Amino acid sequence: MNSVDEVLARLRALRANDVPTHGGRTLSYVYDSGLADADALGRHALADFGGTNGLDPTAFPSLLAMENDLVAFAGDLLDAESGFAGTVTSGGTESILLAVKAARDASAVVSPAMVLPATAHAAFHKAAHYFGVRPVVVDVDPVTFRADPDAMRAAVDDSTVLLVGSAPSYAHGVIDPIAAIAAIGADRGIRVHVDACIGGWVLPFLPDVAPWTFAVPGVTSISVDLHKYGYSPKGVSILLHRNAELRRSQFFATADWPGYTMLNTTIQSTKSGGPLAAAWAVATFLGREGYADLARTARQASLDVAAGVTGLRPLVAPDSTLLALVASDDFDVYTVADEMAARGWLVPPQLPYRGGPASLHLSLCAATAPLVPELLGALADSVAVARAAGPVALDPGLVAVVAALDPSGLDAAAFDGILAMAGLAGGAQLPERMAMINALLGEASSQLREALLLAFLHRLTRPERLS
Ligand SMILES: *Cc1c(COP(=O)(O)O)cnc(C)c1O
Repeated sequence: MNSVDEVLARLRALRANDVPTHGGRTLSYVYDSGLADADALGRHALADFGGTNGLDPTAFPSLLAMENDLVAFAGDLLDAESGFAGTVTSGGTESILLAVKAARDASAVVSPAMVLPATAHAAFHKAAHYFGVRPVVVDVDPVTFRADPDAMRAAVDDSTVLLVGSAPSYAHGVIDPIAAIAAIGADRGIRVHVDACIGGWVLPFLPDVAPWTFAVPGVTSISVDLHKYGYSPKGVSILLHRNAELRRSQFFATADWPGYTMLNTTIQSTKSGGPLAAAWAVATFLGREGYADLARTARQASLDVAAGVTGLRPLVAPDSTLLALVASDDFDVYTVADEMAARGWLVPPQLPYRGGPASLHLSLCAATAPLVPELLGALADSVAVARAAGPVALDPGLVAVVAALDPSGLDAAAFDGILAMAGLAGGAQLPERMAMINALLGEASSQLREALLLAFLHRLTRPERLS
């Protein structure tokens, strides 16, 4: 055995290389309210309930009670009518997987499809892959980056079981025309899911937002994450349905084995009550008023960054608290991302897609608001360096090799060869500067990006012996 102190010291050492979860300089992956009491409460509840099991709500009535409370809170925020139903899940992806599964299983269509704006979250593609629902991807408006309802209507056929809109989209931060999309669903008797995973806990507190909740006729389900702008520790999201009947096909039961009858509301069976309890504690502490303050603060920070940024510009005016920033002239945002990292900021790049430009993603949180001047200064300095460096110069030989790769045949050996060519032999660690790799990936097709990054992931995930 090791001593408690030694294990704790090793845990601290392990975390030293992580991006900070708090402090407002990590503008993706983590969401910081800047409120120490809310954080402490969430961590306390997480630890207290970490060993409870949501598999059986009759054995842990505390979890059932907290789940019903959180679903009621969300229903209130999202204009649910009486008779609505919801489930707490482990995250946005699980909420979306379940919305797609529920739509598929409620329909008799043999080869079901769903109509997605090109800006729909990757989780819908995962759901398509897992559940055999064909994704019919429709281009968005090239200026507003919002879904094009006419094009979506034209893409609907007898196999369509689900239409999707985002409020807002992750990559561009704009709200799709939900009323128009929902009208198509209502006309054709097709379910309509609104992905409010990132905006659902912010938009209800902002003025002048176009309607997108259950107040819109035809919206049948909404996903909203607590582990984003609910400012809870990771592992909590909510999937709401307009009524309990729509939720029936989400659940799963089997009595076909000799153990307990398995009754699951979600994909996980045994599941920790920790994240649910943490979300309940944080939401109970903050309440609507606390969230309203935090939402307004994050929104103002987003507007201030959009208005004050130089050398970069918002791809589109933000509807919420997310920004996609693009270069205003001839330099690479990939270099800006590296320069920001060197200055202690995580501002990840988004690769060009379907004709759109490369951009930087910023999810603004309340904790970043006091740092906006510093953020703008770091962006300006980073742009100056990127301008001086000019666009990333890719070795034409390397580009040719990558362009000739067959994504389906990319094995470990081929991947090592590419790393060696790129001067990255060793390959189990990310280099400090990613601009060259991002520029190379930016040239590649989606299939090749997937294959290259999966090969990298296989390289990363190899066991070390635990001592
Ligand atoms: C984050 C996000 C998701 C996926 O959620 P995870 O919690 O990462 O699984 C889905 N849709 C949108 C719009 C998101 O921002």
